[in-house]
Amino acid sequence: MTPFAHALIRWFTANARPLPWRATYDPYHVWLAEVMVQQTQMDRVVPYFTRFVCQIPHIPALAAAPEALVLKLWEGLGYYRRAHHLMACARVLCQDFGGELPRHPQLLRRLPGIGPYVAAAIASIAYNQDVPVVDANVLRVVARLRAIRAPITAADTRQTVETFCREHLPPGQARLFNQGLMELGALVCTPRHPRCEDCPMAPQCRAAQDGTTQDLPVRPPRPQVIRITMATGLIWHQGRVLVQRRRLDDVWGGLWEFPGGVVEAGERPEAAVCREIAEETGLTVEAPRLLGVFRHSYMQYRVTLHAFTVHLVSDPNHLALTEAETARWATWDEVRALPFPAGHRKLVQALSRKQAHPHRD
Ligand code: SF4
Repeated sequence: MTPFAHALIRWFTANARPLPWRATYDPYHVWLAEVMVQQTQMDRVVPYFTRFVCQIPHIPALAAAPEALVLKLWEGLGYYRRAHHLMACARVLCQDFGGELPRHPQLLRRLPGIGPYVAAAIASIAYNQDVPVVDANVLRVVARLRAIRAPITAADTRQTVETFCREHLPPGQARLFNQGLMELGALVCTPRHPRCEDCPMAPQCRAAQDGTTQDLPVRPPRPQVIRITMATGLIWHQGRVLVQRRRLDDVWGGLWEFPGGVVEAGERPEAAVCREIAEETGLTVEAPRLLGVFRHSYMQYRVTLHAFTVHLVSDPNHLALTEAETARWATWDEVRALPFPAGHRKLVQALSRKQAHPHRD
């Protein structure tokens, strides 16, 4: 074992966070956690993970779970395509692999939604196979350790980092070694303020020795922030509100929403909500009344959502959907149980908190 690997594993053994999937390293738990932590911080994932495995405790249960339940448990994690892939993958595992995840990365990579990273993570963390794992934390840590000045997103950089990991990975210790590198990046070698004084790698770290930790890793410029204004409307009929389900090929496929869309340049949100509802559902509405304005972000987008209650003036049975695969008139209790994208979820939560959702027949 190299001195680097020895110091890293010793540090991880003493400092690893007691995350729930580390209790048994059940392959289903490791897989679920690795999929959840993409785009989300580890600590934030814990309550989602715990709720998920409580209701869906194993792969056969995931294969048989209703889509609405899986999406509801996923609500708030974003990037819902991952939840659809989990379900599809569970069905393949039950059909072809006896309901278990295979051990080898090559087999894992053939499964729906499992790319090189997740395959390597399952193989090494769940099954302790000698496979290196390179995620954003590992890239950052190794870029500093080796003072890599090439852009962190370059394919060559990833290759250099992977080679470094492969050279230091001690046989039979991949679970501890890989998690050690990732944990070091999460807890000590953090993006903005690396705590070199507490780092077991400091004596071997070129960036710490050169005083260049703040300059590394070299990142590409951030994508420009794009601001979007949207309008949505609650249409009430006989105590029920219209919700529609987005098409599966859509960015929030399978989630529910109130009809609405993007406010065009020079358009007022009040006008946009009536126009969008007509275009998306074929219904005619009028007299929009503002319920609230909700803000949320995803990737480089900053969305401002204007939510209205509107008055229905056309036949509620004459729906002509253009953007959704289905729609229904739902009670408020039913609405609360449905999975929504972030902006609409904030709206549902805000109205539920008031316990007096505006209601017009
Ligand atoms: S010494 Fe500092 S820069 Fe180097 S790996 Fe440790 S925390 Fe990161």
